[in-house]
Amino acid sequence: MGVPKRKASKSRQGDRRAHHALTIPAMDRCAQCGATKRAHHACLACGTIGAAK
Ligand SMILES: [Zn+2]
Repeated sequence: MGVPKRKASKSRQGDRRAHHALTIPAMDRCAQCGATKRAHHACLACGTIGAAK
């Protein structure tokens, strides 16, 4: 494997970590009980799976 020739500076370390930020999951509101839930996921409060017609 390749081995770095010299130590990466703190600046370059930051450049590398520029893509490491976490994102907040997309949230939605349950159509059944109104609780906040993750989009495209079952409601944790009432168990409703999806949009019932
Ligand atoms: Zn619900």
